[in-house]
Amino acid sequence: MLVRLLYASRAVQGMDKAMLDAIVDRSQSSNPEHGITGILCAYPEGGLFLQALEGGREEVNALYNNIVRDPRHENVTLLRYEDIEERRFSSWRMGRVDLKSVNPGVILRFSRTAKLDPFSMTAVGAHAFLEELASTAAIGSRERG
Ligand code: FAD
Repeated sequence: MLVRLLYASRAVQGMDKAMLDAIVDRSQSSNPEHGITGILCAYPEGGLFLQALEGGREEVNALYNNIVRDPRHENVTLLRYEDIEERRFSSWRMGRVDLKSVNPGVILRFSRTAKLDPFSMTAVGAHAFLEELASTAAIGSRERG
């Protein structure tokens, strides 16, 4: 039984490179052993996260429980939870999109303004946005610079 979960959250004390690297390092070391794939979209300008997690129901639920308790962010808001036949973000153990490198037009296609606000997106829109990022944006495991 495979599921996909999408959530949005807000960083508690801003978002710096060390914090993002720590999250991505943890994800990339731990997710493979639990069969978790996904994509993490970080928007430092707004201090926002949008993440998709895919994998077995038990494993995704366990990880989401960890994530909800994580003090580095707040307002963790479940946007979508569904059974799936196949993964959509299976190419990355936890691909990370840095929105600084994304054309604002891509954000505008899915948002009211060119500033990302995942909390105001529909579940379908948030998923479509992440799929668009996965197919067009530079996916990195660590931010450069
Ligand atoms: P542990 O004490 O190591 O484990 C607690 C329980 O969770 C155990 O039963 C263990 O088997 C289970 N578990 C641990 N890791 C995973 C996993 N990756 N998948 C399924 N079950 C697991 N951490 C990640 O590991 N992967 C992510 O993709 C991820 N994304 C994050 C995104 C954001 C925006 C933030 C802020 C944090 C993210 N984290 C991620 C970190 C996460 O919040 C926890 O800090 C991390 O999972 C360790 O939690 P813990 O110390 O309670 O887990």
